[in-house]
Amino acid sequence: MLTAGGRPSTALARRAELMVRRGVVVDSSLRSVTDDRIHAIGDCAEHRRRVTGFVPPAREQAVVLADVLTGGTTRYDGSRSVARLRATDLEVAVLGDPERATGEVVEMTNPIAGSHRRLVVEGGVIVAAALVGDLSRVGLITQLYDRGTVLGPDEPGQLLLGEPASAPVALPDDAEVCACGGVSAGSIRACSSFESCRESTRATTGCGGCESVVRRLLAESAQADSRVGAS
Ligand SMILES: Cc1cc2nc3c(=O)[nH]c(=O)nc-3n(C[C@H](O)[C@H](O)[C@H](O)COP(=O)(O)OP(=O)(O)OC[C@H]3O[C@@H](n4cnc5c(N)ncnc54)[C@H](O)[C@@H]3O)c2cc1C
Repeated sequence: MLTAGGRPSTALARRAELMVRRGVVVDSSLRSVTDDRIHAIGDCAEHRRRVTGFVPPAREQAVVLADVLTGGTTRYDGSRSVARLRATDLEVAVLGDPERATGEVVEMTNPIAGSHRRLVVEGGVIVAAALVGDLSRVGLITQLYDRGTVLGPDEPGQLLLGEPASAPVALPDDAEVCACGGVSAGSIRACSSFESCRESTRATTGCGGCESVVRRLLAESAQADSRVGAS
């Protein structure tokens, strides 16, 4: 399946005479700029001329709006651009704008496995990435991108090689595993089962692209617990 994007259904908002361009135009309180009784979040909201179109920014906006509606001072300053998609069996992650970002491009394509990975690196920092068909290193790459970590000389290539089956790299506790819900590896490790993890953290309940990593982390924790119990 291929798509050229989505378009919010704005007829109701237009009829209500809210200011609508592509979406309902909102300020940093996610409030309509023409009617302060109305707030908009998610696909239908346009903030600083941008509509988002993915689950993670909608959730970030929901958190801000919950605070605004309960009298808090949190304001929305735009979402980082991290998209994870699952189209039939093909998994895709896009960080930033890998087509337009300036920097050195490091990429690897495996036509047999059907995967393509591209990092755009500037000054040693990942400024954009696209991963198609193999998301085994997406947690680590997202963390390095978010933090603006300066990579070592061999790191870009190593990140693209995928995770060696024999020795998976341990994700740090604060590495983000579920981009939709913003759930870290540590929060997942703290759960006792896959079901309780879904229930308490919401990991895997968005696009579902993190399921294999969540299951692996839980299995590793269970193994570690049983070793402690046996000793
Ligand atoms: C095929 C497809 C695949 C996608 N895959 C991914 C993915 O893998 N990862 C990702 O991050 N994002 C994905 N998205 C985008 C994601 O679904 C949206 O960004 C997200 O659902 C936005 O949430 P929302 O609450 O703003 O809008 P929605 O989830 O669209 O919810 C809006 C709700 O409002 C209801 N509604 C509309 N008009 C009215 C009305 N007049 N009265 C009452 N109710 C109304 C609708 O029925 C709907 O239930 C995908 C989208 C599509 C279409």
